[in-house]
Amino acid sequence: MPGTAGPPLRIRVSCPAALPDVDSRAVLAWYCDQFVLPLPDHHRFPMEKYRLLRERVASDGRIQLEIPEAATNHDLTRVHSAEYVARVTSGGLARDEIRRIGFPWSLELVERSRRSAGGTIHAAERAHRDGISVNLAGGTHHAFADAGEGFCVFNDVAVAARSLQSQGIVGRCAVLDLDVHQGNGTAAIFQGDDSVFTLSVHGAFNYPFRKEASDLDIGLDDGAGDDVFLSAVRDGVARALGAGVDLAFYIAGADPFEGDRLGRMSVSMNGLRERDHIVFDACEQAGTPVAVVMSGGYAEDVHDTVEIHANTVFEAARRASSSASTNL
Ligand SMILES: [Zn+2]
Repeated sequence: MPGTAGPPLRIRVSCPAALPDVDSRAVLAWYCDQFVLPLPDHHRFPMEKYRLLRERVASDGRIQLEIPEAATNHDLTRVHSAEYVARVTSGGLARDEIRRIGFPWSLELVERSRRSAGGTIHAAERAHRDGISVNLAGGTHHAFADAGEGFCVFNDVAVAARSLQSQGIVGRCAVLDLDVHQGNGTAAIFQGDDSVFTLSVHGAFNYPFRKEASDLDIGLDDGAGDDVFLSAVRDGVARALGAGVDLAFYIAGADPFEGDRLGRMSVSMNGLRERDHIVFDACEQAGTPVAVVMSGGYAEDVHDTVEIHANTVFEAARRASSSASTNL
């Protein structure tokens, strides 16, 4: 519980003036679902989950919703090649590059991808100031420096980590990637870089079928279930935070869920709530601020995906409220 174990989350640093004022009891959550990406009928990506999630959390008085600015070329090119950013922006991607991303190219795709990355930059800045903040999108961990894939155009977490590092706000970061799919793009981007510790707990036999090397990969069998999954999460998060980092990114994918069409991990909804508790407890105990991003979720019933993401956001709000009240 906040205030009863470990140092408080609230850490005061200088931060960009553009951040909005916020009630000290609230957690800031950034959303960009209004930047709609047009998809063909029967496309398998559940785009509506973002709007449903925002509507689900909007009535909670602890959560303040904000629209992020779009990530600029300057932001994006700290991670991505200028040539890739230019080709995404202008519609100059080759047909096989578009197929690899899995979304048809449109101006809306560009804007949506920039806003999503912008949301994670904002969430990271705010988390470092307040202890915790959320992007209701993001977690596009399959994006590489010069290519997108698996519904990911830009790697929002990498862009945000580099943004805060370049501003001198943080030194070392950890990426706690608990989506069911390996964070291959993130692993490749930060390979050989000691300033960002990459953890990925994922299905060993699931997409992506060619894995990259994270600092710590924990690959699990299909059908692993709650106990195996949570044990891996506990061990992985402890090791990732153990070296001492200034900021953690929690990639809270909903797709380890037993009702997910793509996940195959057989983790219950309660198990995913326990995952959230493990992450937030570990961050609190280490005194590490945490920026939360949503990543994947492909449940048979989209409302299950929304419920899992909402549970994460509500838990973040509860932690933020408790932390604020213990610091009054
Ligand atoms: Zn995933």
